[in-house]
Amino acid sequence: MRKQIVAGNWKMNNDLAQTETLITELKMQYSPQDAEIMIAPSFTNLWQSFNTLKDHAIEVIAQNMHFAESGAYTGEVSASMLKSIGIQTVILGHSERRAFFYETDELLAKKVNAALQNGLRIIFCFGEELKDRKSGNHESVVESQIKNALFHLEASAFENIVLAYEPVWAIGTGETASPEQAQDMHAFIRKTLANKYGKETSESISILYGGSVKPNNAKEIFGKPDVDGGLIGGASLNAEDFFAIVNAF
Ligand code: PEP
Repeated sequence: MRKQIVAGNWKMNNDLAQTETLITELKMQYSPQDAEIMIAPSFTNLWQSFNTLKDHAIEVIAQNMHFAESGAYTGEVSASMLKSIGIQTVILGHSERRAFFYETDELLAKKVNAALQNGLRIIFCFGEELKDRKSGNHESVVESQIKNALFHLEASAFENIVLAYEPVWAIGTGETASPEQAQDMHAFIRKTLANKYGKETSESISILYGGSVKPNNAKEIFGKPDVDGGLIGGASLNAEDFFAIVNAF
């Protein structure tokens, strides 16, 4: 059975005090779930967040990391640094990293390798831009993003990889892929994985949807057979909204 996951990507929001407040609110809203729940605060708040939620089912995860182990990479954080404070999961390939920090498939393949070598689980994000969707190239764009960054891996590596399909045109825009568009793409992703790694592996990989998931649309999106949860941006900054989404399962 695939894991159901709802992960909140806080992006560059919340200072330390705001982080503590939101975590307190999340704890109050929490009730035991089948779905795994994760939050990704900024680097400066990871250690504090991790300690606050140490014995709690909500997992604290990182938004990014560098591929190198250590060295002259000013401003960066390595996989082993994340591990050293207890972090187990990292988001890689978010469209904002691709767009604003020029992260390419080639670079992401290196980050994927470094994360796996350090025993981190990955939420690997990808998705087409509006122009790709309009020109009908959305499947081939997504296919090449997955192939270029992940298809050098053995099937066993996918035990530690969660995929997040996030159409760029739906992120932070209030525009959501329809449940049918999400399902069609998730089924296509699963077929692409099955062609390379076989049906058993492809059926075991959780594929999350991300892009303006809100309390009022989560149920329909999560109800689709190939959607195993969500990566949530804006709505994860409000404890009530975030748990309304989690409870949509
Ligand atoms: C995201 O940042 O991954 C995301 C899906 O954002 P939002 O939910 O705000 O569209």
